[in-house]
Amino acid sequence: MDFQDKNLTCKDCGKEFVWSSGEQQFYADKGLQNPPGRCQDCRKQKKDQKTNRQMFSIICKECGKEGQVPFQPRNPNDVLCADCFAASKATAEPKEQEEQKEPEASADQKTPDLPVEG
Ligand SMILES: [Zn+2]
Ligand SMILES: [Zn+2]
Repeated sequence: MDFQDKNLTCKDCGKEFVWSSGEQQFYADKGLQNPPGRCQDCRKQKKDQKTNRQMFSIICKECGKEGQVPFQPRNPNDVLCADCFAASKATAEPKEQEEQKEPEASADQKTPDLPVEG
């Protein structure tokens, strides 16, 4: 197939942008039917918006350090920084430790199955 540069109009900023033949080839390879609706600038901006989440400054109630969380805390005096949040989550789940005991019992049963030297 022969691709030629096409002029498309960005639906976000209304600017004309070039949909290059190379990009068309890329789209065709991926089986994409629709041409891009946005220019590269707007596509990049969209991506940045997704990654740049709004962060809220907090004072950690655990360690007193200033931290940032990706959500607006309902009670700013009752917030943990990322570190303490991770730590509290790790200790709040003793389930995992209990589960680790089970393989021990089955390992005991397996011992007789081991080949005996002799
Ligand atoms: Zn645009
Ligand atoms: Zn903390």
